[in-house]
Amino acid sequence: MTSLPLRRIARPFVRVITCLLLIVASGASASAQTKTLKPGTAYIDPDKYVEFQPGALPIVLTSPHGGRSKPNKIADRTKGVLGADTNTQELTRAIQAEFIRRTGLPAHTVISLLHRSKLDPNREIVEAAQGDPEAEKAWHLFHNSIKAALRTAVQTHGFAFLIDIHGHGHEIQRLELGYSIDGGRFNQTDAELDRDNLGPASTLNDLMASGRASSFAQLMRGPDSLGALLEERGFRSVPGPRDPGPKRFPYFNGGYISRTYARDVPGVDGVQIESHLRGVRATPEDRRQFAQALVDTMIVFLERHYRYSIVPANFTPAPGAPAPVQASTQP
Ligand SMILES: [Zn+2]
Repeated sequence: MTSLPLRRIARPFVRVITCLLLIVASGASASAQTKTLKPGTAYIDPDKYVEFQPGALPIVLTSPHGGRSKPNKIADRTKGVLGADTNTQELTRAIQAEFIRRTGLPAHTVISLLHRSKLDPNREIVEAAQGDPEAEKAWHLFHNSIKAALRTAVQTHGFAFLIDIHGHGHEIQRLELGYSIDGGRFNQTDAELDRDNLGPASTLNDLMASGRASSFAQLMRGPDSLGALLEERGFRSVPGPRDPGPKRFPYFNGGYISRTYARDVPGVDGVQIESHLRGVRATPEDRRQFAQALVDTMIVFLERHYRYSIVPANFTPAPGAPAPVQASTQP
């Protein structure tokens, strides 16, 4: 485990650095360039489209729908979903703060600062930017930051785990964990789920390929699943032991980011988390409590399934969660 000076990591600060994100934006040698970036520091491009916090953990957090900035120089999108996911930027910052508190180390974090009416980074570029050149520039910055983070994580740790953070407005107040598997599949029995070899099509495909999971159904909703671990910490989840499938209710199974990276990039697994508002992201206390449950869940999940501890030996967590990194744009 890389040893990093805690004082710098524990109080990340925001910098506007022109050249570095432009280098990241060039993509090709992104992983080499991120080695010159300081983990836990927030880098923002001069246009304030994307915030990238390079990390030291194998975790990559993405926040595509929590931005608030609506610059006039980007045209409004006219098609698709235009509404933001309320407070998911702040939720992502709270999760990052909790990773630092529990491990002394930051996750890689990529935050779209643009409102979804200007850019939807969880879509391919045509629907995402709808032909606006500035929005396309922001889309490339966002995705090249993710690629740089993933390459660094895989090179450093041998794997990466991406968590894409969203908010839903569905009636049932529960987390919807998206693994790129249709919700209807989860309404099937465990035997049916296991029969159809769904592992390679899921965002946990690398873990399934490793042979360490007893079965796909167990990985999705057994006692060591993300859903089970979150339920144990007070957050009802689908799929999970309590709600094996969505039944007839709406369920988001993951989008462009989780498919493109967690499913399709070798060495990268992950999940899309669609959260309800009250109790998860409505207030700072909601976000702090959910962040504690999620980070605790990830520590256990990575130990049990990846045999990987993200908590350095002899590390003692700070008593309280530090304030999240300040948002770089005014609400
Ligand atoms: Zn969303």
